[in-house]
Amino acid sequence: MVSRLRPFTTTIFAEMSALAVATDAINLGQGFPDTDGPPAVLEAARQAISDGVNQYPPGPGRPELRQAIAAVRAQTYGQHFDPDTEVLVTVGATEAIAAAVLGLCEPGDEVIALDPCYDSYPAVVAMAGAVLRPVPLRPDATGRFALDVDQLAAAITPRTRLLLLNTPHNPTGTVLTDAELDGVAELAVRHDLIVVTDEVYEYLTFDGVAHRPPATFPGMAERTVTVSSAGKSFSVTGWKIGWACGPAPLIAAVRAAKQFLTYVGGAPFQPAVTVALTSELEWVRQLRGDLQRKRDRLSAGLRAAGFEVLHPQGTYFVMTDIRSLGESDGMRFCLELPHRVGVVAVPGEVFFADSERGKPFVRFAFCKRDEVIDAACERLAGLH
Ligand code: PMP
Ligand code: GLN
Repeated sequence: MVSRLRPFTTTIFAEMSALAVATDAINLGQGFPDTDGPPAVLEAARQAISDGVNQYPPGPGRPELRQAIAAVRAQTYGQHFDPDTEVLVTVGATEAIAAAVLGLCEPGDEVIALDPCYDSYPAVVAMAGAVLRPVPLRPDATGRFALDVDQLAAAITPRTRLLLLNTPHNPTGTVLTDAELDGVAELAVRHDLIVVTDEVYEYLTFDGVAHRPPATFPGMAERTVTVSSAGKSFSVTGWKIGWACGPAPLIAAVRAAKQFLTYVGGAPFQPAVTVALTSELEWVRQLRGDLQRKRDRLSAGLRAAGFEVLHPQGTYFVMTDIRSLGESDGMRFCLELPHRVGVVAVPGEVFFADSERGKPFVRFAFCKRDEVIDAACERLAGLH
């Protein structure tokens, strides 16, 4: 294996899901829902296969899907994208992010990412030969992982090319505030940075907190690649239909990389996701309400079991601090947990640039049926 990929062998999600199967534990590790998406959307995929939508779709994605993506961004956030030149369908958000980094960064360029971050970011930055510069999110007095814009400013150098943002944020559940995003936008404009924003949890926000796409802030539209996908919004994480939207020259760069990574993907899922975006946003609103209740259900169980819960405002993950349990090593704790009580979670440290900083954190997913959450909470109560 090449040296730049050596730190990135098996993903922690695959590892922990395999552990859940091997120990017959309840899997609150990898973030995938245990119920299906909207029936009409599932039916549309079956129908597309029957209708012969089984060969390569057009390179940028099927036109009606690109139109639907642009229409939803316009209707929801007032963003305007030309479906022909400013929208690209990808194999999940993962490919959109990888293609953006590969298509927009020269070797040696610096990429700033929030720390902790989703595990694919450091890997694709390494594949591009670029250099990751982490900027910490730290829990504030309320337990929200907050961005210190001054620390972001301090991380910018003449080699900084790209800012990789994620809001709502995995693994912390932070939804970046207007004040944080104003600060980000001001810096991006001042230093002429490209911004890539991962918004896969855009609809999954709670307590009335609204997701604001970074590209809607002053000076940002012309420098931002907005990434999202169908997986989380419509509970079809295995379909891997994602997209990148942005100014034509930036999308052309993403497309240049994308076409030689996968060329195209998921032909019959593309019409199904078109149905999802055009007629199932109400379903997503219900999902959001359900997830808020599930967050509260799991959080209550975790608190009762002795965890400190860092209240998430979005995503379907809750970060906990295990020092309140008298524990200090999240990795060891997660490897033992299935054997101790039959529950799988993900050690926070895998998301942190400095694993020492991430050690006390453990992430649980709450995108599961109520009875699964209840059973997990009952088991976790046995930790006492
Ligand atoms: N970004 C974040 C922050 C995620 O949590 C995930 C989780 N799956 C992805 C990207 C990947 O999205 P997709 O499955 O659409 O590639
Ligand atoms: N995004 C999901 C998580 O954070 C899992 C994605 C994956 O398995 N790579 O748990």
